[in-house]
Amino acid sequence: MTNEELWQAALGEIELSISKANFITWFKNTSILSIKDGQVVISVPNGFAKEWLENKYKLYILRALRNLHNEIREVVCTITATQERGLHKPIVDAISHPKTQLSQKQAKISQESNLNPRYTFESFVVGSSNELARAACFAVSQSLGRLYNPLFIYGGVGLGKTHLLQSIGNEILRRDSGLKVRYLTSERFTNDLIVALQSGKINAFKEFYQTFDLLIIDDIQFLSGKEKTQEEFFHIFNYLYQLNKQIVLSSDRPPKAIPTLEERLRSRFEGGMIADVSRPDYETRLAILRRKALEEGIQIDEEALEFIATNITANIRELEGALNRLEATAQLSNQEITGDFALSALADLVSSGKRKGITHKHIIRVVSEFYDIEQEDLLVKGRKKEVVKPRQIAMFLMRSELNYSYPGIGERLGGRDHTTAIHAFEKITKELEVDKKLSEDIAVLKERLYSIN
Ligand code: ADP
Ligand code: MG
Repeated sequence: MTNEELWQAALGEIELSISKANFITWFKNTSILSIKDGQVVISVPNGFAKEWLENKYKLYILRALRNLHNEIREVVCTITATQERGLHKPIVDAISHPKTQLSQKQAKISQESNLNPRYTFESFVVGSSNELARAACFAVSQSLGRLYNPLFIYGGVGLGKTHLLQSIGNEILRRDSGLKVRYLTSERFTNDLIVALQSGKINAFKEFYQTFDLLIIDDIQFLSGKEKTQEEFFHIFNYLYQLNKQIVLSSDRPPKAIPTLEERLRSRFEGGMIADVSRPDYETRLAILRRKALEEGIQIDEEALEFIATNITANIRELEGALNRLEATAQLSNQEITGDFALSALADLVSSGKRKGITHKHIIRVVSEFYDIEQEDLLVKGRKKEVVKPRQIAMFLMRSELNYSYPGIGERLGGRDHTTAIHAFEKITKELEVDKKLSEDIAVLKERLYSIN
């Protein structure tokens, strides 16, 4: 395997573990410069990328590389000038190569609308888990601004929200390319807003957003706790709404479950149509896999498809991940993808019960992100009210998912006594029986936890 092939295969793995935006931002124009004595030197375009890759993504990189080449021990990044880098094929080239996993994911995203053309209604497989949401999105695409406004789609990670939201945009533009459509995540919205505020261009910012016929904002839960952003968004929302312009939103949970969302925004969100996507059933999983294999030209046995559909149940992103991984492993080892091959290649993904590689650190990270609090707050002894419940949930998960001892849990969460951990576990267990929202939250948390690795 050449360095380039190795890096492409590793990127395929890494891409599955981090968000698309981060992947593109930080891994663009990277390559392997050299491998010597177990040390891999990665060429990066600038100091930012070096810092991020070394501080945040080193473990992902190392894990991905070691999965492919177990003698690799260390990863370092080095900044390379553009010409030099020209010798190594950057990932953008690989993207246009039809047979790599990156090809589809990173299709030409339109500058103007920010839509990825691969997300269409045609490529979306319908099943009972997403039927309603799909119907609502399709209806909106046929009757912009008049039927359901806003349209709010919610559900766990990797269940097709982004795909559906962007399908509306693509469908609209297919029929009338003169309409103005914009897709963005709420994080991007927030960042752009901050830049506009800092550079005194807030009016231009508002005017820009007021021009759209269809505004799609993904993962709106990240507006939680961001008061200034919520306020600006509220005004833009009202402006568009009054003009019968369509607004489509998504979130990992229903509006009423988003913490610290201003009441007026919540009631706006609830004023339209709300539909959810849930986990796909076996039939849908199989149909999705068949379709992806076909689309990407992957030769795969029916038995192998069934094996994946049976064992990978959490979400669709994981299904795709498993399929891509099989394809990559098969190519590297020049084997056919049979049921047996799938069994051995995916053994670590499906080993029943607890999946490997998850630690208390992942739990702390996922819980703090979900409740939008600092990791630090979970760890210190303080008694901030808004942290009490998340901390109990973290304790609960350490017990239920990792089987940690109570003293071990207490110790990891700010040196608390083991009785605190026992109390937390019992309390959450009891509440789960009656509190539907809590059990939804825990389901989302587990999904996130298991999609980290
Ligand atoms: P979410 O935004 O809910 O986290 P995504 O829309 O990003 O999920 O979906 C994850 C991946 O699964 C995407 O590549 C998407 O194309 C694919 N996917 C999700 N649902 C379907 C479906 N019903 N049919 C085909 N592909 C799907
Ligand atoms: Mg999404």
